[in-house]
Amino acid sequence: MSQPHTGGDPHVCARCATQGPTCCYVEPGNEEFCFPLSRSEWSRIVDYCREEGGFAEQRNTRPFLDTMRRLFPLREKRVEELFPPQGTHLRLASDARGQCVFLTSAGCRLPREVRPWFCLLFPFWVRGEMLTMFTASGCLVCRETATVPESLALLGVSAKEVRHIFGRLLLAWGLEPDEGDCGK
Ligand code: SF4
Ligand code: SF4
Repeated sequence: MSQPHTGGDPHVCARCATQGPTCCYVEPGNEEFCFPLSRSEWSRIVDYCREEGGFAEQRNTRPFLDTMRRLFPLREKRVEELFPPQGTHLRLASDARGQCVFLTSAGCRLPREVRPWFCLLFPFWVRGEMLTMFTASGCLVCRETATVPESLALLGVSAKEVRHIFGRLLLAWGLEPDEGDCGK
């Protein structure tokens, strides 16, 4: 295991990319667990690069729905409306190796302001008042830090910025923010 980091490292994601697999990768066969892409995020990407093959239509499988309910425990009803069991949703497409099709050897080819909210948010998540993190073994930030404040410091972002991104993600899905979600 890596030694815990105490300071910031603007190159942590670049270092992660040299070790792989990073958050731009999904294990082939596990695509149903990719975070869904809202219409507004899709249209932002299409406006930027007219990408026809950058997206995949994914069935709302039971494991996917269970994951979404776990991620939005207070918004179950809205999640069920957004993702009906027989329906589909959009996600970023990945290639045969599992890499996001927008990933290049120099990193993501989408400018930051065009990237999906989940990409900007990862590895953080928000539960009501609490800023939390995913436990992702493929994420160098997760491997090199032990607490959320350490992870924020390593990435050089503030809790307020993370809550703001989470708020934008909720808005993109038409999910009402809870008090505390967006750091208000
Ligand atoms: S859009 Fe960019 S940041 Fe998001 S998964 Fe794809 S390559 Fe990674
Ligand atoms: S957020 Fe984590 S998984 Fe994604 S590139 Fe950075 S260190 Fe790697």
